[in-house]
Amino acid sequence: MLRSGTYLLGSKPPAAPPWHPGRVWALDPDNSRDLIDRLRPHGRNRTFEVAEVGEGWRPLVEECHERLEAAFPEYELLYIKQKYGVLEYQAFPRRWAKGQGQWTTQEHDSLETITSQIRERSGNICEWCGAAGQLRDWRELELTLCDACDQRFPDPPYTVYGLLGSLCRGASWPPSGGRSPGVAR
Ligand SMILES: [Zn+2]
Repeated sequence: MLRSGTYLLGSKPPAAPPWHPGRVWALDPDNSRDLIDRLRPHGRNRTFEVAEVGEGWRPLVEECHERLEAAFPEYELLYIKQKYGVLEYQAFPRRWAKGQGQWTTQEHDSLETITSQIRERSGNICEWCGAAGQLRDWRELELTLCDACDQRFPDPPYTVYGLLGSLCRGASWPPSGGRSPGVAR
């Protein structure tokens, strides 16, 4: 790949792609094997298969996991999903077990500090492509998207409709067999 400074005099630099296309609304072992392999041991019953967020937030999920693991090596992961348009990373400082000592307020607060910083940052990052984005709170299903992705996806996007079916059940969209253009799932 050419780096700046290597163009021939008079030639134009290659046009930047309008956006990273993005491919998925959920991170799973097929599209994010390494990440899911790292998250799984923290899941309840040591199972964890799907982070229900778009590919644009993968770096935020990775960072949140790394910071939590550094602070709480045995942290328990409950779920990762998009909620009210932002990234919700729900975890406990350590495995919760009935009747056992839990964690201190300080531990709770320090975990909350990490997950809330990640949540806040997700409000400025397009969930689909990772470009600068903003919360589209007029959508029936609120999402944080860049301008291009906001125009690209119907409301709600088909695959999110599938993932969050319980939220959207009863809506008439999409028509049966419908599929958003460009959504590779
Ligand atoms: Zn985007």
